[in-house]
Amino acid sequence: MNVYDSERMVDVLSPLGYAPTDDPAAADMMILNTCHIREKASEKVYSELGRLKQFKEKKAEEGDKVIMAVAGCVAQAEGDEMMKRQPAVDMVFGPQAYHHLPELIAKAERQEGRILDTDFPVEDKFDHLPATRLTAGPTAFLSIQEGCDKFCAFCVVPYTRGAEFSRPVAQIEDEARRLIASGVREITLLGQNVNAYHGEAPGAGLTVWTLGRLIRHLADIDGLDRLRYTTSHPRDMDAELISAHADVPQLMPYLHLPIQSGADRVLQAMNRQHTADMYRALIDRIRDARPDIAMSSDFIVGFPGESDADFEATMQLVRDVTYAQAFSFKYSARPGTPAAEAEDQIPEEVKTARLAALQALLVTQQKQFNHNLIDQVIPVLFEKPGRYEGQVIGRSPYLQAVHVKNDADLIGKMAYVKVTAAQQNSLAGELCDYPVS
Ligand code: SAH
Ligand code: SF4
Repeated sequence: MNVYDSERMVDVLSPLGYAPTDDPAAADMMILNTCHIREKASEKVYSELGRLKQFKEKKAEEGDKVIMAVAGCVAQAEGDEMMKRQPAVDMVFGPQAYHHLPELIAKAERQEGRILDTDFPVEDKFDHLPATRLTAGPTAFLSIQEGCDKFCAFCVVPYTRGAEFSRPVAQIEDEARRLIASGVREITLLGQNVNAYHGEAPGAGLTVWTLGRLIRHLADIDGLDRLRYTTSHPRDMDAELISAHADVPQLMPYLHLPIQSGADRVLQAMNRQHTADMYRALIDRIRDARPDIAMSSDFIVGFPGESDADFEATMQLVRDVTYAQAFSFKYSARPGTPAAEAEDQIPEEVKTARLAALQALLVTQQKQFNHNLIDQVIPVLFEKPGRYEGQVIGRSPYLQAVHVKNDADLIGKMAYVKVTAAQQNSLAGELCDYPVS
């Protein structure tokens, strides 16, 4: 979602004459878009600010002013402290305030002091963003839902992103149509809990649509070849969404469905409001609907009170489900969350050992999943040139990167590829003699 938000900041800034640059020495403004989800990401902000400050100082020596801004969830949570800790920061704004950028910049240019905008505005950010998106390439993110009301005991999202909010269907459809008109063929619908989506239906009436209904609607748009969504919560995986996996060919057979832990005790302490067996039963229903679906998840090891037996239950769940890929993290105590106050915190070395064991198992499964694709013919949407001469990189339906050596101009095209080799994170293959579209 931070990638999406950063792209939208570019859209907001472009009418003011700003354009993105890869070279910090050339920048008139630097925006650090930050993540607060774990301590490591959060702490990185300060070291990165120290690094970027040098570019600002260098420009100041030459008589030029650089605006240094911090955006995102660390800005939201620690705005005041950040201003104190890093005097070079001119502007701090939260994830619900970046549509205010033109006013904030005008204030900065009028030298009205340092600027802090971390309110959750009453008005809807999405109503104020430019309709046009300046994306390049055949794939794009599209935020449809933000915030969260679930309050898992470890998580800062409900505090930093605010209450759950769904964009109206018509607004999403308009953004999707514009993306497709600009050459996008694959859209990933985004939300902190994307399947909790309940957006205002198009046309008159007071009904709301769920994610399953929205997916069926968007799939009817000509030129949209692929749809994905992330991140989903097991409790919001309803029958309409599961049946979309069976019926909608554009919906890719890949599902990121985090469980966090395989132990019911831990799930309860986390306030996840489901058991491990409820999750297993859900996966069975999803696989009945779409047998080749690639499953992905998030796991947290070392949540307060997690015993050896609890951790073993997580390992067993992974063995039972088998994942195509997954993200796993050591529990990180976050300020203001209930779990951070728990007394039975797990020692760092136990967390480290559990994470290593879990990741070893997940990597084995990931390699196996990829290996099973060898000799299969799969459709690939090509996105960008590879590192080597003549190499192009695309994505499989199951989200792996696929490397192909071919001189034809394949970027933005879809083609069938026969998989010849598999690594942990990617596949390699040869272009088949099928029509390229
Ligand atoms: N809404 C999604 C997850 C969003 S946060 C869900 O409920 O599944 C993304 C991931 O970050 C989480 O799934 C979790 O695995 C991880 N995460 C969040 N807070 C964390 C913390 N305090 N410590 C470690 N990992 C955390
Ligand atoms: Fe965080 Fe997801 Fe739980 Fe919401 S449902 S509090 S985003 S982990």
